[in-house]
Amino acid sequence: MKFEENVALSRFTTIGTGGPARFFGRPSSLPELQELLGWARDEHVAVEVVGLGSNLLVHDDGVDALVLRLEGELAEVQIEGDMLVAGGGAANAVCLHRARDAGLGGLEFASAIPGTVGGGVRMNAGAYGSDWSGVVIDALVVDADGASSLTPAELALSYRHSSLAPGQVVAQARFRLEPRPAEEIKARVAELLAQRKATQPTTKRTFGSVFKNPAGEQGAGSLIEQCSLKGHQIGGALISLRHANFIENAGGATSADAIALMAEARRRVHERFGLELEHEVRFLGPLELVPFSA
Ligand SMILES: Cc1cc2nc3c(=O)[nH]c(=O)nc-3n(C[C@H](O)[C@H](O)[C@H](O)COP(=O)(O)OP(=O)(O)OC[C@H]3O[C@@H](n4cnc5c(N)ncnc54)[C@H](O)[C@@H]3O)c2cc1C
Repeated sequence: MKFEENVALSRFTTIGTGGPARFFGRPSSLPELQELLGWARDEHVAVEVVGLGSNLLVHDDGVDALVLRLEGELAEVQIEGDMLVAGGGAANAVCLHRARDAGLGGLEFASAIPGTVGGGVRMNAGAYGSDWSGVVIDALVVDADGASSLTPAELALSYRHSSLAPGQVVAQARFRLEPRPAEEIKARVAELLAQRKATQPTTKRTFGSVFKNPAGEQGAGSLIEQCSLKGHQIGGALISLRHANFIENAGGATSADAIALMAEARRRVHERFGLELEHEVRFLGPLELVPFSA
């Protein structure tokens, strides 16, 4: 069986924290993925997936699971007519470049989302009023029992949500795009990236948005900022001065530092606004934020 043991996951998260995966597999084809999933089922080992680790916080003591990272054929990108077909492990940036080179638009909104196709499905990643649910035709979802092709409705894609359960792996997705001149795509991407640079800590190590925006007028960042938490630091984790819904690794941060900072931000926002912020970042390993009602 092709996997390694005790592989440090801090190398695979954009915040750069987290302990080891007990088992770490890098399947590069569908049969390899299915073999690993079958092994995990037979050995009663939990399965987790990492994409680009750009919305992921891993426990400092690691994860007692088989953690998968899709590579090879499972990260390839192909254009078929007006459709882009990509492996679950394909980087959004590669998809965007391939689409642009083929004169196909529709993925520009994802230019500043540093993840993979599979991570995008899991999170229903989105920006600037568009998200995965609007461009995905279907996703090939594989688990130990087999594979099925699911539409956005079947995946229940909504704001940073899908119904994917642990152990379900997005091996491929098909995107419906539309003909658009490459120059137009390039210009739109440059515009969106400039907007990002002006408002978010794009050069720092973060895991993207910490909390989902609650219903109502005010975003999570604004609520946290109003609690005077910009620049607040615990250990090596810092609430970004540029955007309060980002936590930066200011040097030597641990996941425990980040969780402590998240707990403090939630506590302060709850105290001042009576709102319970829900985390957007996904946890791997036994991490949790305790509900206020508990
Ligand atoms: C600077 C920065 C900016 C960001 N901006 C945005 C933004 O504008 N909009 C936005 O939506 N997000 C944003 N993010 C967050 C993040 O990039 C997205 O959520 C992205 O879709 C996560 O993809 P990933 O491959 O990195 O997934 P990971 O972070 O590796 O994983 C996230 C979740 O997806 C699961 N997963 C990953 N791959 C698969 C797979 N193949 N099959 C099943 N489950 C899988 C993981 O198990 C985990 O639960 C940003 C992050 C950063 C660092």
